[in-house]
Amino acid sequence: MVEQLDELYREVILDHFKNPTHTGELPEAQVKVDGANPLCGDELTFHLKLDAGRIAQVRFKGKGCAISQAAASMLATQLEGKTTAEAQHLIDALKRLMQGQEPNPSIDLGDLEALAGVRKFPVRVKCAALSWNVVEQGLKANAGD
Ligand code: ZN
Repeated sequence: MVEQLDELYREVILDHFKNPTHTGELPEAQVKVDGANPLCGDELTFHLKLDAGRIAQVRFKGKGCAISQAAASMLATQLEGKTTAEAQHLIDALKRLMQGQEPNPSIDLGDLEALAGVRKFPVRVKCAALSWNVVEQGLKANAGD
């Protein structure tokens, strides 16, 4: 399916898929959360280490299609160093991006912008969105206790 994307998007996505960053585990992470997209068979586990309200480190493990795994790598890159509030703003911007709305220009999406190319394929939006849905769930659960 990645072949159907515009070349620029495709290159960024395939690069993250083949050479993902932030893979692994953080045994001391306060946030450990996983999720799946059964429509495609994508699975992701995220570990987030928090320090004074900031996401100090992010690691993920997963399996599935190129889009789901590339999105996780891109998201991990953007999340590190952000406060949990900034992380939520980023997630909100990504949701708007996938709905075809213009995200807030003050939010730096980094390589995640390449996922705009996936909007044309509604069934694949779930692959892309799995990463931030999982992280959002983990941050909300952590904030609640
Ligand atoms: Zn997928």
